[in-house]
Amino acid sequence: MGGETTKPKVAETQYPIRAPAPVGKRITHIYKERITQFYSSGQWESQNLLAMMYEGVASGGPHVHLSTWAAPGLTRPTFAEAAAGSYKPTSVGESFGPSWATHWFKVVLRVPADLRDKEHLEFHWDSNSEAMVWTDDGKPLQGLTGGGERVEWILPDSFRDGKEHTIYVEMACNMMFGNPSGDIIQPPEPNRSFQLVRADIRAVNLDARQLWIDTWIIGDAAREFPEDSWEQHKALNVVTNIIDSYVLGDKDSIKRCRKIAHEYIGANIDSSKVYDSGLTPQVFGIGHCHIDTCWLWPWAETKRKVVRSWSSQCNLMDRYPEFNFACSQAQQYKWLKAYYPYAFDRVKQKVKEGRFHPIGGSWVEHDTNLPSGESLVRQFLYGQRFFESNFGERCRTFWLPDTFGYSSQLPQICRLAGMEYFLTQKLSWNNINNFPHTTFNWVSPDGSQVICHMPPSETYTSNAEFGDVKRSVSQHKSMDQDHTSLIVFGKGDGGGGPTWQHIEKLRRCRGMSDQVGRLPRVHLGNTVDDFFDKLREKADTLVTWYGELYFELHRGTYTTQANNKRYNRQSEFLLRELELLATVASLKDSTYKYPKEKLDEMWEAVLLCQFHDCLPGSSIEICYDDSDELYAQVFKTGQEIYDDIYSLWGISQTVTAADSVPIALNTLPWDRKEFVNLPNGAVGVASGGGGVIDVQPFKAGATKAVTVEEIGDGVFVLQNDQLTVQVEDGCITSLVDRQVGREIIAKGEKANQLVIFDDKPLYWQAWDVEVYHLDTRKVLPYGKTRIYEDGDHRVSVLTEAKISENSSIKTFLTLSAAFEGQQSYVECTSLVDWHETMKFLKVEFPVDVRNTEASYETQYGVVRRPTHYNTTWDMAKFEVCCHKFADLSEHGYGVSILNDSKYGFATCGNLMRLSLLRSPKAPDAHADMGSHTIRWAILPHQGELSATTVRAGYNFNHPIKPLSVPKKSSAHAALSKLPIRLTGDDSLVLDCVKRGEDDEDVSYDSGIPPRKGQSVVIRIFDSLGGRSAGTVSTTWNVSKVFKTNILEDDGEEIEIDHDGTFKVTLRPFEVATYRLQLYPSGGSK
Ligand SMILES: [Zn+2]
Repeated sequence: MGGETTKPKVAETQYPIRAPAPVGKRITHIYKERITQFYSSGQWESQNLLAMMYEGVASGGPHVHLSTWAAPGLTRPTFAEAAAGSYKPTSVGESFGPSWATHWFKVVLRVPADLRDKEHLEFHWDSNSEAMVWTDDGKPLQGLTGGGERVEWILPDSFRDGKEHTIYVEMACNMMFGNPSGDIIQPPEPNRSFQLVRADIRAVNLDARQLWIDTWIIGDAAREFPEDSWEQHKALNVVTNIIDSYVLGDKDSIKRCRKIAHEYIGANIDSSKVYDSGLTPQVFGIGHCHIDTCWLWPWAETKRKVVRSWSSQCNLMDRYPEFNFACSQAQQYKWLKAYYPYAFDRVKQKVKEGRFHPIGGSWVEHDTNLPSGESLVRQFLYGQRFFESNFGERCRTFWLPDTFGYSSQLPQICRLAGMEYFLTQKLSWNNINNFPHTTFNWVSPDGSQVICHMPPSETYTSNAEFGDVKRSVSQHKSMDQDHTSLIVFGKGDGGGGPTWQHIEKLRRCRGMSDQVGRLPRVHLGNTVDDFFDKLREKADTLVTWYGELYFELHRGTYTTQANNKRYNRQSEFLLRELELLATVASLKDSTYKYPKEKLDEMWEAVLLCQFHDCLPGSSIEICYDDSDELYAQVFKTGQEIYDDIYSLWGISQTVTAADSVPIALNTLPWDRKEFVNLPNGAVGVASGGGGVIDVQPFKAGATKAVTVEEIGDGVFVLQNDQLTVQVEDGCITSLVDRQVGREIIAKGEKANQLVIFDDKPLYWQAWDVEVYHLDTRKVLPYGKTRIYEDGDHRVSVLTEAKISENSSIKTFLTLSAAFEGQQSYVECTSLVDWHETMKFLKVEFPVDVRNTEASYETQYGVVRRPTHYNTTWDMAKFEVCCHKFADLSEHGYGVSILNDSKYGFATCGNLMRLSLLRSPKAPDAHADMGSHTIRWAILPHQGELSATTVRAGYNFNHPIKPLSVPKKSSAHAALSKLPIRLTGDDSLVLDCVKRGEDDEDVSYDSGIPPRKGQSVVIRIFDSLGGRSAGTVSTTWNVSKVFKTNILEDDGEEIEIDHDGTFKVTLRPFEVATYRLQLYPSGGSK
């Protein structure tokens, strides 16, 4: 270049040449531990952020004036009743009780002058219990829960006028989890008292409150992000900087601190704008409030939990535009509508705005192991109809986050109820195997599928913590296919739902994802259906799970609270018969009106009792007093319907009148032949197909058709044409099928052997029986056996056994004369006087049959499960659920065990074992104590599991009842043949016959428009898992037949043959519903 030279300059720099002072590496764990000191109560609270949380507090007179009225006894009066009470002065510090009582407070508030201009005023109430804020004219406004759970109610601006304003607080003497004594599942403590520790007006420093949440969440990032991530170090820097910048007493320092927080969580966290970044989220938050319809509290308290919880949610929606909330259980909505119309209207408005999402489609969040197929159908029929008529829409997602295992038929039933999606998370509680999927297609045995999602945060009561958001990816097991997930947040089990803290925390989590990353990006504002709709786009890539979602825990719930389970079974059979008879009657006789209202009441009661803590047996004692009462009402109403129908046809339910003829009614869809008792000890044989059947006197033949003999000391032989039963010491030591000459009992073994186990699970007493109980098996020795009955048609032996000093059992082993062509069985009736503690009574049947799988009746079919313990998955099924029968068959032969009210079973190798009674002491200290009558039967059969067993299960649960008609009456002839009949493959079961829900002569007050004309709805299923075909013939005047879903929406029209019959063809285990539209003339042809 040009040859100019310039002298190099010393570079100017800020970087000092000499180190001014030593700087150390931060000792990370100490700085992490320090974070909570900034906002926790205790020794630092007068110096940390808490000291600046409130700008003023007013308590006591003249600002907060309290008076109270105690509701009499344990009643829960209405607002009107309470407002009329006579109130006496009270104050903070007073205690109120006992458990379950209600105290009303009149609260007169006057905001002091120095607080009137403050930014944000709240009324704080903490009675250490649940409570509800009411206006002085009786509008329920918001729930409160003591112990710091939700203690603030925002004062309306109208209260800043310096005048007195009155509100009421309804205090319930229970906490969110009832009144447990110590540990939550221990039986309630009856005499708790609840101290009112706070009732004051507070001016909140909102900046301080927001900074608290900022620090909490950034602190979580500092604590929970991995130390090999820069995001962790940055979080610790930011939070340290915040703590160091805070100056006690300086409100501006709080604003400065919040600015520092923005470096990590962005500047949009104070509004829903934080969700508007346009970046793709992967975790979708939905507010939720799990309210157990009963559990550690009775239904009456649930009604109040609903209004408390949901009112609070409506308030939050007013404050947080991004906040959406989903809640299930039509029953709870119905209660709200009936008892709290103001709150229901608010909910309805929020539903309309798309903020409050009714979900689930079912009547309650029911158990799915124990209810019958028809019960599961009705859960959806009643649930979806309620949602449709009250909110204009049906649900699309079935919602059962807390139920104890899921029947294999649920996908099919969901699809038939208009639902494609299913949410649960309970399998995360499995205590043996880790369920391998988060998002998958769940497939029923008929092939029907739903998309199932199990939120990877593994809770339905998330606190919306940083950790929950993090786990939504770190515990996601289906990321090969899709990495999105739901986070279900809000206080629950005992109600409550989200608080403002939950929503604020999630805003910061989102802000953090957008600002620094690493945390999965959470989003609020969508519905659960939106989430599943996105999944559906990739449904064909999702993995599949076939068959039941067996829950590896809570296996005791197949047995606990035996009476409740018996009433459930009986109610299901009762309703089946009543609907059929009432359908026939209403179409035969125009003076008879189908008792839809009564049937609805009965169904709703039965469905309510199927709630997932009621029927499974995991509720406190008072819940079972309630359900006993409800079932008693079901049986009473059922009897009224019988009375009306029978009087229509001149049928008497007694058979004593001298001028009457005995008849019987067979309402099961196949021919039957059974003994019935007639007056004066006579015995009749009822036989025939559906309808009124003949009863012929039983005539003993020349040789006795059934015999009993004591062949040695304490050794008895009972024998009929088909079976020879040897009873020794009360047990069956031999059972020979005489038709094939086969011994049923395994060599050297004893059947009908009572055994007892120690039953102390790890924790959940009423719920769990744990695998190690099997090691404690003890054989119960029987006492003396004697011949109890030696009739021409039936013989029996009675054996008494002492279970312990406190408990005893009588067993009657009975053999009836065999009918040709009908499989005979050995019946056992046991009367148990049960007063045990943590013992489990079972009865065993070691049979000479070998198979690696046994079959158990489930809803609309059977489920096969291993009889061995090859893998931990097999081992986990050491106690399983069955309905009316369990069966172990090998090629050519098998044995079924029938029962009339039991649901717990196990088959280990060739040992079949029916579970009878448990004796947990928590949460009901008296569960199952007292007397029980239990029936079961051993039904050997040639061939594999077949219609013989399926039908025997129905018959055994529904013995033919003897009736009578006056000698010259012919009214009952109308019933001589049921107007509908299904023929064809014997695996087909005609399980339900009812009138169309919306028939104009049936429907009432449902909010769903009636349908013109009369119709009959029938439900048929394939019970054995094969393609099956049949023909429906009817004497009703059918104009059209439609295949429908279970909500009775018409689908494909079915061709009617020239003879008025129509054909049905079902997939294996398919449930098919048909609607028969009748000609306007109705009635019969
Ligand atoms: Zn629950």
